[in-house]
Amino acid sequence: EIILAIETSCDETAAAVVQGGQEVLSNVVASQIESHQRFGGVVPELASRHHTENITFVIEEAMEKANITFEQLDAVAVTEGPGLVGALLVGVNAAKAVAYAHQLPLLPVHHISGHIQAARLLRPWRYPALSLVVSGGHTELILLKDEGEYEVIGQTRDDAAGEAYDKVARTLELPYPGGPQIDRLAEKGNKTLDLPIAWLESDSFDFSFSGLKSAVINTLHNAKQRGETIRPEDMAASFQHSVVTVLTEKTKRAASQHHVQQVVVAGGVAANNGLRSALRDAFSDSDIELTIPPLSLCTDNAAMIGAAAHVQWKKQHTANWDLNGVPGLALT
Ligand code: ATP
Ligand code: FE
Ligand code: MG
Repeated sequence: EIILAIETSCDETAAAVVQGGQEVLSNVVASQIESHQRFGGVVPELASRHHTENITFVIEEAMEKANITFEQLDAVAVTEGPGLVGALLVGVNAAKAVAYAHQLPLLPVHHISGHIQAARLLRPWRYPALSLVVSGGHTELILLKDEGEYEVIGQTRDDAAGEAYDKVARTLELPYPGGPQIDRLAEKGNKTLDLPIAWLESDSFDFSFSGLKSAVINTLHNAKQRGETIRPEDMAASFQHSVVTVLTEKTKRAASQHHVQQVVVAGGVAANNGLRSALRDAFSDSDIELTIPPLSLCTDNAAMIGAAAHVQWKKQHTANWDLNGVPGLALT
């Protein structure tokens, strides 16, 4: 089947055409990063307005690049949530308009299911599988016993990993989004500072990053008061070490405890070079297959929504015309 997928949950206006949940015929992303940068973060009202301006062009471009007509489509998929409500509504209404005009079924997709299912665009799943979801709003270890069956076995108790990156970057006076900036600096720095790693209870797969964030702020503050300077590169490397160590260790432990065949990394922070190489090392001499999507499929895009929509399509899980954007939509 051929699905047109639309994603507008945050600050990227995206549309893609995906065939059979596996083949990306087009994947168009209009990023709004520059507009939000001067405010140091995503401004919801601005995001909605940009989505409204861009959505028609983005859909048209996705259709053109895929070189297909609306008549060749089998369904229209859209991110239902979670995300910013005003942003979600633009995608949901655009999807409804296309589906209504061309008499196509409407497939509602969970944004995190999209991040996870991006892996399907690389190779077929092997179950049971484990997904480490690390994004701007989520940090979760999710067990997949079978297709589309998600069980959250660990999650953050405070900040998401991406959120911690963005907050620490702001403390270092780096531009938004901070994740890629810290990643770049960390490669040039050394882990000279001893920052905490939140292991929590020994059997827990949960995460916590707020203590680490506070430690960064305090360390910088104390150094400043003593008239010492800390190289931003070294702070970035030390912070990244704490984040990457706990993410990698808990993923490895959860994978072996649940006897999974495959580990899939998902979400914007999966673009992190430090995390990618630590995970590759951790699973290099293991039978467990590690899948880390290319950067373009890690950060927000619509191809991943098309991939997740394939699962919905097979289950005939369609939406009615009253489909709404749901900011706090649960995964299970
Ligand atoms: P969610 O998916 O939870 O709803 P979101 O869609 O805003 O949130 P994504 O777009 O998946 O999140 O990811 C964005 C986050 O990824 C930002 O916090 C950004 O700083 C972080 N990020 C992107 N690239 C990197 C990188 N190289 N290293 C670390 N973090 C990164
Ligand atoms: Fe996302
Ligand atoms: Mg984003």
